Amino acid sequence: MSGALRDRPVTIVGAGVAGLTAAIALARRDARVTVLERAPAIRELGAGLQLSPNAMRVIDALGLGEALRGISLRSNAVQLRDTSGAQVAKLDLLRHRPDDDFRLVHRARLIELLAASARSAGVEIRLSQEVATPPEGGLIIGADGLRSAIRTALNGREVPFFTHQTAWRAVIPDATGAPPEAQVFMGPGRHLVSYPLVGGLRNLVAVQERHEWQEEGWSHEDDPDHLRRAFAAFGGPVPEWLDAVTETHIWGLFRHDVARRWQDGRCVLIGDAAHPTLPFMAQGAAMAIEDAWILAACLDAGPDQPTALNRFDSLRRSRVEGIVAAANANARNYHLTGPLRFAAHTALRLAHRFAPGHLLGRFDWLYDYDSVAITF
Ligand SMILES: Cc1cc2nc3c(=O)[nH]c(=O)nc-3n(C[C@H](O)[C@H](O)[C@H](O)COP(=O)(O)OP(=O)(O)OC[C@H]3O[C@@H](n4cnc5c(N)ncnc54)[C@H](O)[C@@H]3O)c2cc1C
Repeated sequence: MSGALRDRPVTIVGAGVAGLTAAIALARRDARVTVLERAPAIRELGAGLQLSPNAMRVIDALGLGEALRGISLRSNAVQLRDTSGAQVAKLDLLRHRPDDDFRLVHRARLIELLAASARSAGVEIRLSQEVATPPEGGLIIGADGLRSAIRTALNGREVPFFTHQTAWRAVIPDATGAPPEAQVFMGPGRHLVSYPLVGGLRNLVAVQERHEWQEEGWSHEDDPDHLRRAFAAFGGPVPEWLDAVTETHIWGLFRHDVARRWQDGRCVLIGDAAHPTLPFMAQGAAMAIEDAWILAACLDAGPDQPTALNRFDSLRRSRVEGIVAAANANARNYHLTGPLRFAAHTALRLAHRFAPGHLLGRFDWLYDYDSVAITF
């Protein structure tokens, strides 16, 4: 730490994963941090998150690793299955990345942990603060998610586009003691991801392609029967899981492209405000956590704020563009139909049988990334 951030006023708009992680990283470097959050309380809808090692390296560097491990499960594997439930391939995380920590955590527990840690580092979190334009003062960090007001200030008005994907999310009780693995069931035009969470719970995310999205809201409570009907053809444990759903929310997955302009020397965007993604690489929160660390480190090291913000942009842009593109490709791969689906599943089965390390090795570029080891 250089001391360059000592007593520097920083205002962060948004108390999500990006804003709270940045608040902790900056307060630990002695900045005077205020977070403005429009919601009247720090609360999260029930849902799970997978946190991969590239995010965990930052969580550890912030001194939150032990607490995070206490509220999460270590993921052993990712199983790819077809509609019937039969295994197509298995990415064995323990075998092929034994030193890495893939965690399964309830989003609400993660946000509570980050908010408590930010407050104890001296961050002021002000609730019920809807920000329309960048506030006056020192550095402004736009961590205000997909419909970011700070992004609009930097890039002009852009309308998010519907990605033709909708996602139901639900958490169900699961006392079966199932192994901590993420399971992905791939069907034509839809897929379902599930994994257990601490406390006898199981997270479900069920994605369906849909050409029309006419609801006004972008996320709302839905009838669990709609979810059951959409996935009625799925086998294995899926019917039992879906029977257990008593409450579900549905999201229309809207996106912008990666923002053209991330910063203007005074304001800077991080997390979904800068680069919203489809959730099919499970990297949105992970990218937000990487951003938070790297932004704080650039500001700590930079000779001046505009140079530091430029450096942040140049360090992050190609990585997040690569991840967003990989998530888009997964959307296609998971939902294949007909002969393409047969060919892709056969290739996966063969790779699983003859070169299982290769399947996971394709993602080394993603999981090996170490924000903490970058020299600033
Ligand atoms: C179905 C689904 C599954 C996912 N699974 C994973 C996963 O497994 N792993 C993973 O890493 N990621 C996952 N993600 C992505 C991840 O949830 C997001 O990328 C991440 O939460 C983005 O964090 P953020 O802080 O940038 O934005 P947000 O979480 O959207 O937070 C923005 C905050 O800003 C506040 N705000 C907004 N506008 C204003 C304003 N004008 N004034 C003041 N405050 C404002 C909001 O209330 C909110 O608190 C998933 C996403 C979806 C939809």
